[in-house]
Amino acid sequence: MNEKDMGADLENVLITKEEIDAKLAETAAKIDAEYADKDLLIVGVLKGAVMVMADLARTLSTPVTMDWMAVSSYGAGTQSSGVVRILKDLDTDIQDRHVLIVEDIIDSGLTLSWLLSNLGSRRPASLRVFTLLRKPEAAKVPIDVDWVGFDIPNEFVVGYGLDYAEKYRNLPFVGTLAPHVYGG
Ligand code: 5GP
Ligand code: MG
Ligand code: MG
Repeated sequence: MNEKDMGADLENVLITKEEIDAKLAETAAKIDAEYADKDLLIVGVLKGAVMVMADLARTLSTPVTMDWMAVSSYGAGTQSSGVVRILKDLDTDIQDRHVLIVEDIIDSGLTLSWLLSNLGSRRPASLRVFTLLRKPEAAKVPIDVDWVGFDIPNEFVVGYGLDYAEKYRNLPFVGTLAPHVYGG
């Protein structure tokens, strides 16, 4: 799907494919340097992080292993509650492993905060975070994120893995939806 096909649904392209590619190249170089002499396990949080995991993994020079987790946040509506349920756990025992969590977006931070304490309790050798997007104005808990792609305004975004009602994940860029799509 491209920007032309999306015209009616999209309000605004916030981050282009070219900007994402450039940011991943820049970040991959830093991650390569950090893990030069270590075995790195990257953990993607399904489903939103699928695109950023796939592209980051191909941009890194460091050999990595990849694993996935799926979590769901309890709570009504679109707000994250911080009470998280594991839908799919890691296949990997991460004790003594160098783990990098790869996230699509940090909104309130509640999901990631839970994930950090859950994975942290499994005693990895190190546990760091890369998120493609972050909404600083939406933060409810302070989180120490090691690498952030883009800080964005407190708006609902879709594309590049992010959905609205499971749609728009396959857009190659990040954009905002026109209000008529979500009944606004
Ligand atoms: P948090 O626990 O940080 O509030 O929520 C994180 C999760 O909420 C993300 O992994 C994502 O699934 C969802 N989310 C938060 N903000 C957005 C957004 O702007 N667009 C989309 N599509 N999902 C979002
Ligand atoms: Mg996510
Ligand atoms: Mg979603």
